[in-house]
Amino acid sequence: MTTTFDWSQALRERGLRVTRQRLAVLEAVAENPHQSAETIHAQVARALPVITVQSVYTVLHDLASHRLLRRFDAPGSAARYETRTEDNHHHAVCTECGRIEDVDCVHGQAPCLEPPTSLGMHISVADVVFRGVCEECAAAMAKEPSAP
Ligand SMILES: [Zn+2]
Ligand SMILES: [Zn+2]
Ligand SMILES: [Zn+2]
Repeated sequence: MTTTFDWSQALRERGLRVTRQRLAVLEAVAENPHQSAETIHAQVARALPVITVQSVYTVLHDLASHRLLRRFDAPGSAARYETRTEDNHHHAVCTECGRIEDVDCVHGQAPCLEPPTSLGMHISVADVVFRGVCEECAAAMAKEPSAP
């Protein structure tokens, strides 16, 4: 596990106390983006065996509300977290295996879709989720004879 980014510094800049839990969660998410809280917990627990799933949820919530983490609600599954917070990127989800990939927004800035002016709302974010089947799943599906 080699993280060159100084998470302690990032926490301090946002007025957050530097704790082992927060550092471990940030490093786990930086290493493996788009994982659920449960998966992050399993990873963090290797270094901090006493940490509970509940405290991982609390840490994720705190970090997300301070924009150190971005939360992504994957369609049909648990919320995912990532450290890529500074841009307005989108996600592509494989509907077969659940794999999630980042997709750079062509506009770069939120909101990248224009709502109708008749909406009467000030829109700050447009969430775009691309759904499809990844190449591996497509290859596996091509090999398997279709179900009767
Ligand atoms: Zn897939
Ligand atoms: Zn992402
Ligand atoms: Zn966009």
